Parts: sequence; structure tokens; C-alpha cells
Amino acid sequence: MIVRRLLHILPVFALTLFILVLLDLQLRTRSDQKPTASFAHEKTPSISRTTAVNQHRDVVNDKQRPKLQKWREMKPQPPLGLTDIFIAVKTTGRFHKTRLALLLETWISTTKHHTYIFTDSPDEDISSEGFNMIVTDCPPEHSHQALSCKMAAEYDHFMASEKKWLCHVDDDNYLNPGALLSLLRAFPADSDIYVGKPSLDRPMRAQELLEGNKTRDVHFWFATGGAGFCLSRKLAEKMAQWASGSRFEQTSAVIMLPDDCTVGFIVERRLGISMVHSNMFHSHLENLLLLAPSDIPKQVTLSYGWFENKMNSVELKGVFTKDEDPSRLVIHTPIHTPSHSHRPCGYRFVIYD
Ligand code: UDP
Ligand code: MN
Repeated sequence: MIVRRLLHILPVFALTLFILVLLDLQLRTRSDQKPTASFAHEKTPSISRTTAVNQHRDVVNDKQRPKLQKWREMKPQPPLGLTDIFIAVKTTGRFHKTRLALLLETWISTTKHHTYIFTDSPDEDISSEGFNMIVTDCPPEHSHQALSCKMAAEYDHFMASEKKWLCHVDDDNYLNPGALLSLLRAFPADSDIYVGKPSLDRPMRAQELLEGNKTRDVHFWFATGGAGFCLSRKLAEKMAQWASGSRFEQTSAVIMLPDDCTVGFIVERRLGISMVHSNMFHSHLENLLLLAPSDIPKQVTLSYGWFENKMNSVELKGVFTKDEDPSRLVIHTPIHTPSHSHRPCGYRFVIYD
């Protein structure tokens, strides 16, 4: 009786087992052909898979790659941090004590690890304090060539870094790091951005040197270096053909203009990308007293110097409170340089106790 029953069940059991094995086999083959995880191509292939299957997988994954790329781009990026910004300060040996020392004491003391000082003379006092000092071979002059030489060094060092933005300032600029970060965060990540303030109210007019000693008129906007400006990495990469290594100085020679104009020429004329005009950068060429005190904490840069024969600066005391001011910079007193020993040439910023 039991034996007869078993004889009835056995074929059913065998058939069920066969179907299950078949199903399992089919499922396995399918899952080999279809990459299941988004990052399947990053995983080490399983040893049990045949070469043919792996080759097939590679083809499938090559097709998938653009999709994965898109997915990664859509993935929320961490917000831009201050340390993602390569801050380049241009200076020269004779201004180390009269201008740079002041910046080192104030805003550079809070951005030290991602601020790079481009100069023409070594200074053990500064480098021993752990500041990033890049001593270029550029001549210690205010000539177009010398200034372009330093800008080329700034560009090359930034390109060799992992930073997302290159921001240039002169050594008579006060930078407000918090305002800079807010400004740059407002731009979409990975966009082509050149932001700063023009010193002119119209585009720059220049003569571009062509072959055979011919010239042509060119017009373009440029951000004045004396107020500071920033370039996004994506745009900086596109500039390489005219800006990397010795090319920057060559491009500067083509329009016979200094470094900041050369940047504008490359971006607007060579690449056809428009500069973003911002009124939050300020050089000593403008009357800083026109700024409303309540707007001062929002400004990205301020500067000091002479404007219409008067000393030009803004009173920061009372604008920032001790806790608000990221650089601890509060008041300034006149300083004298040998060339203007009879009168103050600007203001010395003094930090809180
Ligand atoms: N500079 C320089 N070499 C010089 C003179 C000036 O690298 O021989 C730098 C200076 O340190 C500053 C910038 O060039 O960062 C602009 O110089 P300055 O403020 O004296 O003149 P401006 O062009 O602003 O009138
Ligand atoms: Mn200046």
C-alpha cells in the first residue's frame, strides 16, 4: 500500500524538482545578463562566471555608463566648503611687511590652509609660520609681463590642486571669507563662472595682434584684479589652451595688456563666455565711503588706498561685532611706506585683543 502510494508520488516529486531546477537555472542566467546594482561595474566579477558572460557584462555596462554618470551628477553633492576655494594672493618682496603682514594677521589667519601667497622673494619669517608661500621666478616689477607671470603661476598651481574655485586677490584686499562662500554657493556646481567687478563702465577695448603684424579691435569685459575675482574649475579647465604654463604670458602679449585683462580676454573672446558682474568686490579705485555700513559685512572684498587724493577706506569698527567678524579685523590706523613717508598711504587694520 505504502509502496504503491510512493510509486504514485515519485514521478510528481521528480517533475516538481526538475521544474524547480529549470527555473533556478533561468533566473541565474538572467541575473548574470542584467546588472542589478547601480555600481555593478565597480564590483569585482564573481569567479564562477564565465569569460563570455563577463565580456557580455562589460558591453552592457559600457551602455549603462552614461546613465550611471547622469545618476552621479544628479546625486546631491556636499555643499561647497571654504576649503574648496583656492585663494591666491599676489604680492611682492617689498610689500611683505607693509601690506602682507596685515593680511596674515587678519583674514589669512582663518583661511591659512587654502590660501596661497604668490611672491617673488623668499621670506623665512612667513614660511616658518606655516603659510603657503609660492616663490615664483617672476621679476619684482609692476610690468604687464611680471604681473602676468604671477597670474600664470596662480593658474597652474590651482589646476594642480583639487580645489573647485580659484579666487585671486591683491595684497591690499581685505577678504570676507563668509561672504565669498555665500556668493560662490549660489552658482550651480560645475558651471562656467568668471565673477568679479569691472573697473570700467564699458567693455575693455584692445588691439589683438594677428599674424603678419596685423591687428584687430577686440572688446571684452574683465574683472579688475585689484578688487579680486573668481573662476570655477570647469571654466579654468577650458582656459588651458591660452592660460597654462607659458601660454598665459603669450596671450597677455597678444593683447598687450596686464594679467586681469588677459583673463577677461580669454574667457569672453576666446571662449565666448560672459563674465558675471558682481558689485560685492571693491578695489581702492572706487569710493568705498559710498557703501552703507549695514552692507559692509556682505561685501566679498574691500580695499584701501587713495581715491581722488583722499585716503580711501571704510571704518569696520562697529560694523562687525567681535564674534561676527571672521577675521577678527576691526579698526585701522594709518601706515607709512618709504615712498610716501610724508603721508599715510592707506590704513592698517588692527585685530581684536
Ligand atoms: N605687485 C607685484 N609686483 C610689483 C608691484 C606690485 O607683484 O612690483 C603686486 C602687488 O603686490 C599687488 C598688485 O601687484 O598685489 C597690484 O599692485 P598695487 O596695489 O601696488 O597697484 P595697483 O595696480 O592696484 O594700482
Ligand atoms: Mn592695489
